[in-house]
Amino acid sequence: MHLSRFPRLHFGHFPTPLEPLDNLTRHLGGPRIWIKRDDCTGLATGGNKTRKLEFLLADAQTKGADVIITQGATQSNHVRQTIAAAAKIGLPTHVFLEKRVTDFGEDYQRSGNILLDDLLGGVIEQHLPAGTDMQQAMEQFAGRLRTEGRRPYVIPGGGSNPVGALGYVACAEELLWQSSQKRLRIDQVVHATGSTGTQAGLLAGLNATNSGIPVLGISVRAPRERQEENVYQLATRTWQLLEARGELPREKVQVNSDYVGDGYGLPTSGTLEALRLLARLEGILLDPVYSGKGMAGLIDLIRQGRYSSDQNIVFIHTGGSAGLFGYRQLLEKYDD
Ligand SMILES: *Cc1c(COP(=O)(O)O)cnc(C)c1O
Repeated sequence: MHLSRFPRLHFGHFPTPLEPLDNLTRHLGGPRIWIKRDDCTGLATGGNKTRKLEFLLADAQTKGADVIITQGATQSNHVRQTIAAAAKIGLPTHVFLEKRVTDFGEDYQRSGNILLDDLLGGVIEQHLPAGTDMQQAMEQFAGRLRTEGRRPYVIPGGGSNPVGALGYVACAEELLWQSSQKRLRIDQVVHATGSTGTQAGLLAGLNATNSGIPVLGISVRAPRERQEENVYQLATRTWQLLEARGELPREKVQVNSDYVGDGYGLPTSGTLEALRLLARLEGILLDPVYSGKGMAGLIDLIRQGRYSSDQNIVFIHTGGSAGLFGYRQLLEKYDD
């Protein structure tokens, strides 16, 4: 694998720490739990999109872009981080937001990520109803800008295409290096999966190097079969971009969709419990949409006895804590 042949900018603080969660491990009495702190990537409160944006915005720059266009839900972490990264290289970002979640009132609509979008200088073009074809909305707008002589670069939701997924190929390499430094045998990597770039990049990176470490994605939205198919498609395209030998075996793609609850952006009681446990046992802030659901899944699987106590599980904290402020009312209401 030759990641060095792809253009890359440097926005992040790497390597992110890989640390044991001793209190949570003791509390659950299962395998040894480790956390990879991709919430500490820097860039406007951090998160997993930093890694993708290093490759995406380098590609934009190579292509001579003068404006970035992207999309996401109202409380999108991807949108917040894209605006920040583009600002750093002097490019404006125009954003299309989707009202994918309507249950949470004023703070959801105005605080958290969307407050930061504005502070970072993002231009919100439209705030569209749930179910809108967001890719089409962006393409139409890009077409209009082109007729005005502009050079737009369109980044898909979550930054999830093969170029963006290279960021998680890089994370896979970083993790393998850290595990050898610590003489740590990793039995499984677990993380929240949404637009699929994170899992696709990890799978491509870990398997192209023959590490054989299994990756389990906890879905925050789609049912298992659809999510596995989407991850597989993107992982395979990423594999081809890397010009890795052979192909990624389909059975390497593992998704669990048992923790989605009522849908995207709607925390379950398990999500809220995971938020509290990590905050109170480890001083770590998860988020209500992604990492809280992912951790809720891991906690439940441990309670079901799926792991043995001599195993090492690495949870990738993909960030998102800025979104907590959009969920103020819900968090205040939750009482254990
Ligand atoms: C985007 C995001 C994810 C999901 O990553 P994908 O690459 O979209 O699957 C997980 N956690 C957080 C906090 C995110 O913002």
